Amino acid sequence: MSTLEIKDLRVSVETKEGRKQILKGANLTVHSGETHAIMGPNGSGKSTLAYTLAGHPKYEVDSGQALLDGEDLLKMTPDERAKKGLFLAMQYPVEVPGVSMTNFLRTAKTEIDGKAPGVRQWAKDLSEAMKRLKMDPKFAQRSVNEGFSGGEKKRAEVLQLELLKPKFAVMDETDSGLDVDALRIVSEGVNRAKENTGLGILLVTHYTRILKYIKPDIVHVFADGRFVKTGGPELADSLEETGYDRYLPEGSSES
Ligand code: ADP
Ligand code: MG
Ligand code: MG
Repeated sequence: MSTLEIKDLRVSVETKEGRKQILKGANLTVHSGETHAIMGPNGSGKSTLAYTLAGHPKYEVDSGQALLDGEDLLKMTPDERAKKGLFLAMQYPVEVPGVSMTNFLRTAKTEIDGKAPGVRQWAKDLSEAMKRLKMDPKFAQRSVNEGFSGGEKKRAEVLQLELLKPKFAVMDETDSGLDVDALRIVSEGVNRAKENTGLGILLVTHYTRILKYIKPDIVHVFADGRFVKTGGPELADSLEETGYDRYLPEGSSES
């Protein structure tokens, strides 16, 4: 059983108008096997939270911690975070021309486990995982994310989840750009990881659509840089009806 604990996190970015604090004291605790949906209006800082956990250099931590079993991820390099068991699926994943999916995955697996996987076991694991995700075997030879469709990018992320077996996954807007079939396949993969390895999930989303497939245990409303409300799955249903207006700061409107 592992715990991811975000404590009073404050994060700023440098904008054209100067330095601006985006995360303003975010607090969250996630345990193994729990799925937390993080929902909120556009521009509230959800992606900033994900990028900060990923260690993106643009996001400067002013104060606070992100503890994985008591160790502060924010003091680690992105590689070290991955080794500790954190997985990030980003809204706009990077392309890595010239590096094939199969080499990328094998390198990541070797890095995370501290030793290279056996050649035959690895080939078997990879092909079985790809079959479960209904991916063409040829996909393994393509460059990471290069020219991938929305659905292919998301399948590639879930493939990583299945093979790298992280403790916690942060998934930012996983549903954007997915048709219903792809959404179902991706969601099944995420649910399998939760069942098989006790994956803890932070599912960042603006819309409730994906929550029909990935059932959250806990739903949070995130607005203006912090968590403002926490509830069960029924909170997502009420947001569906009422929207985020009442969580927005005075004088702003949802974009
Ligand atoms: P969300 O994912 O909830 O839509 P974001 O985290 O993307 O919100 O953005 C929150 C706020 O921070 C927005 O006002 C956005 O313009 C600003 N912001 C985020 N990242 C950057 C950046 N790299 N440079 C400048 N402003 C940023
Ligand atoms: Mg946004
Ligand atoms: Mg976002």
